[in-house]
Amino acid sequence: MSGPLKGRPGDGFDVIIAGAGIAGATLALSLSRAGLRPVLIDPVVFDDQLAPTFDGRASAIAYAAFRQWRALGLGEALAPHAQRIEQILVTDGRTPGAATGGPSPFFLRFDSAEIADRSDGEPLGYLLENRHIRAALAAAVKAAGIEVLAPARVARATFGPRAAEVTLADGRVLSAPLAVGAEGRGSVIRTQAGIGAIGWDYPQTGVVTTVRMARPHQGVAHEHFLPGGPFAILPLTGNRASLVWTESTVRGAALKTARPEIFQAHLDRRFGDFLGGLTLEGPIFTYPLSLQLAERLVAPRVALLGDAAHGVHPIAGQGLNLGLKGAAALAEVLVDALRLGEDIGSEVVLERYAAWRRFDTVTLSAGMDAFVRLFSNDNPLLRLVRGAGMAAVNRIAPARTFFMQEAGGAVGDLPRLLRGDAL
Ligand SMILES: Cc1cc2nc3c(=O)[nH]c(=O)nc-3n(C[C@H](O)[C@H](O)[C@H](O)COP(=O)(O)OP(=O)(O)OC[C@H]3O[C@@H](n4cnc5c(N)ncnc54)[C@H](O)[C@@H]3O)c2cc1C
Repeated sequence: MSGPLKGRPGDGFDVIIAGAGIAGATLALSLSRAGLRPVLIDPVVFDDQLAPTFDGRASAIAYAAFRQWRALGLGEALAPHAQRIEQILVTDGRTPGAATGGPSPFFLRFDSAEIADRSDGEPLGYLLENRHIRAALAAAVKAAGIEVLAPARVARATFGPRAAEVTLADGRVLSAPLAVGAEGRGSVIRTQAGIGAIGWDYPQTGVVTTVRMARPHQGVAHEHFLPGGPFAILPLTGNRASLVWTESTVRGAALKTARPEIFQAHLDRRFGDFLGGLTLEGPIFTYPLSLQLAERLVAPRVALLGDAAHGVHPIAGQGLNLGLKGAAALAEVLVDALRLGEDIGSEVVLERYAAWRRFDTVTLSAGMDAFVRLFSNDNPLLRLVRGAGMAAVNRIAPARTFFMQEAGGAVGDLPRLLRGDAL
């Protein structure tokens, strides 16, 4: 996937995309399918991104975001690895499984059957291991003939009246009408464009691992609020589950280095026996958790995408979904502008992308932050308030429907790709 550029460096590229993560690669594929010529840059070659030790996460993907990958031709490669989420059970308390008859009266239950008439029978979303998403994207990027410069790292960038000029750490220089920063929270394109960021670290770590379950999970995702933070049990294909266990930073570090039998003992204590026995299947990964929001999504000849624009807490599995929505919106704005003969790196064009995504990005990031503070807390009064809130939403069908449609990502002014249409 790596190699020298043919011809003059940067010659003929429409969009330079820094970062070939899931958001950057999805954007590259969307643009290429519509006839544009993107180039992807990443310090990590795709083969290394696919190694089992690289990314142990699974992502809950809204059904609208999944439609986008289908529209880009990834449906066949992803389908065998996509677990339908039929129900989501949200419980509060010290014992998991309150919604299945346990001790807590406070729970929330979302069921895909309730919105089947509006979602064409789609589930609430799909769960996919990131390594399978990365493999499908890498194969499609390769088949589409998209140029990938890897290993290569963006070191500097300047933004002139006609082009963005990106200098790689090895001295190569690329230029194009537009540079997209999709390099995650440490985006060099963002800082080089003079776009600031606000945010903070949470005193929490996301501990992630994969388990095999003794009883069938039946496509049910569990989100359980423990004093240290949320504990999610996310169903995967093959009757496995991905666990996202939010712990204090100190406990997270201890869990990462714990011997398997000690980890298993902690797990059994958290899980209880409401889902039957479980066996640890994969390595243990830890991720520091933080909020980071770019002050602007665009600047002249620059657009930010994915975690480079908005890094949120994984409490509701929305980070990547936001990035995928952004990729669909940015691709549509650029393709439409090109068809109208406009300059795709001009402020007037990029402002359409910013206006489209700004509200969703800010409200969701702020909402997730409030959620984290409310739910990572053992204050008895807060526990009562949030429990009562969950019980109330659970009793009001339109409120449940609202949350399910939000989670499905099929609300608002949807880009064509998220409706499953071609660009
Ligand atoms: C525990 C956990 C669970 C999560 N679960 C979910 C979920 O269920 N659903 C969901 O929607 N989201 C989830 N998320 C969030 C999601 O994982 C992120 O939002 C997503 O991975 C961000 O993708 P990205 O492509 O924007 O950035 P990244 O994945 O950070 O990719 C950035 C890429 O840029 C490259 N790069 C870095 N520096 C440079 C440089 N100088 N030049 C060029 N390239 C560079 C990197 O190598 C990398 O490949 C979760 C996050 C965590 C931590």
